[in-house]
Amino acid sequence: MWQREKKPVVGVFGFSGCAGDQLAILHMEDELVDFFTSAEIKFFHMAQSHQEVPKVDIAVVEGSINTDKQQKELEEIREIAEVVVAIGTCACYGGIQYLGENQEVFKERMKYVYGNDGVVPEFSDLVGQPKAAKPISDFIKVDYAIPGCPISKENFIPIYAKLISGLYPQKYPYPVCVECKYEGNDCFLLHGKFCLGPVTAAGCRAACPSFDVSCVGCFGTYEGANYPSLYDKLKEIGLTEEDVTRKLQMFGGDAVEKILKGEE
Ligand code: SF4
Ligand code: SF4
Repeated sequence: MWQREKKPVVGVFGFSGCAGDQLAILHMEDELVDFFTSAEIKFFHMAQSHQEVPKVDIAVVEGSINTDKQQKELEEIREIAEVVVAIGTCACYGGIQYLGENQEVFKERMKYVYGNDGVVPEFSDLVGQPKAAKPISDFIKVDYAIPGCPISKENFIPIYAKLISGLYPQKYPYPVCVECKYEGNDCFLLHGKFCLGPVTAAGCRAACPSFDVSCVGCFGTYEGANYPSLYDKLKEIGLTEEDVTRKLQMFGGDAVEKILKGEE
């Protein structure tokens, strides 16, 4: 870890996604001055002109990896960073663009759209050759993951504040349902309505159920989730197994697929 008496150097990097997580940081209006003064922000894709960064203490990385060029850039970030933090569901799980696809399915689609074996020469210099979207942890070691679509400042600030102080943050040890109970909400599942709260990582203070909207899992998977139980419950209220899997994969992407295949 870096010396605490010195401000850590931070880089905020972005790959494929809507850039909503970088925007969520810039929208932290009350905390923005602290964000920019408590660390040396040497690189911020959305907020600064491009500059070369030889080394960062903390790399904050948004977005999934969709091209070979991005993969190389991500690997370079890992080499210059002490700590890598994935922010947002695209970086953590692949995001909506993950679509449960493997590389073969993706190649077939590229071939169908572009012909020429799916290889598009004009892409090479600009963005690199496209490939199926994957979370950044498929390519490099990720030290911390802050999911959310986009991240919430309630989740981001405590983790970020600990990291810039040289401390190690802990993950939430419970799912959205616990926060939902704290908020005093009536449970959708008890009324025969769909909700993914039981298998979704906490951190949003049950934002959707608190406004009478079912959780669709945008904070990604909760590690201790009981998937068979949720499948049974959602089938009981009329969803097919395929419906449930597709809903789970919308935000849980890569992680859900590994869990369902018994790989995690
Ligand atoms: S409404 Fe959803 S998030 Fe809230 S307790 Fe029920 S299942 Fe969990
Ligand atoms: S309740 Fe679910 S869908 Fe809504 S913000 Fe939280 S994790 Fe995302």
